[in-house]
Amino acid sequence: MPVRQGYFMLRKLLLTSALLLGVASAGFATENPQQQQMAMWRQVSFPLDNFTRFSSRFGWRGSPTGGRGHEFHSGLDMPAPTGSYLRAWADGQVVDVSYDSRCGNHVIIVSGEWRSAYCHLSAMAVKVGDFVQAGQVVAAVGSTGRSTGPHLHWTLRYQGQLVDPELVIRAMQAAWKGGSAPEVAPAEDVPETAQQSTVLGDP
Ligand SMILES: [Zn+2]
Repeated sequence: MPVRQGYFMLRKLLLTSALLLGVASAGFATENPQQQQMAMWRQVSFPLDNFTRFSSRFGWRGSPTGGRGHEFHSGLDMPAPTGSYLRAWADGQVVDVSYDSRCGNHVIIVSGEWRSAYCHLSAMAVKVGDFVQAGQVVAAVGSTGRSTGPHLHWTLRYQGQLVDPELVIRAMQAAWKGGSAPEVAPAEDVPETAQQSTVLGDP
């Protein structure tokens, strides 16, 4: 995509999100876009206690369960012991708490135009309709569904488009530690099946 078009898309994405996430708007007139973005990335919470590493990144990968060929991984995997707290990434409302054979026990939270799905949970502490705050414990990590060990799978969408959660995590780190934040925008080259999937899709 042309750089300039990309810039405007990014700017729109971040500004819209900032408003929806409830960042104080009073300072907007005097803050530059970079400051506004940094303010937004400090309003959200790292979703996992006991984080150690990313075990499987967003994007194309070989099958984790030994199948042939490649598949599109629609989220980010982070291993953690069963029972580790899952915390809501952003303020929002719980719209689904259920089970399916791929994602296992899962929770979906809508935060403005963002939608987070958390898979493979061992237990849930919220129900559909609950309003949650960023950082609030909503569930515990597990290994339910299609999973080879206890981990959190986080699928993140903005306006229905898949976003790599690792970009968000790196932007959050930059907001607290300084340095430049990566551009957070919907992923390109996402296969239509993954983009349209209503199942959260983890593998
Ligand atoms: Zn996964």
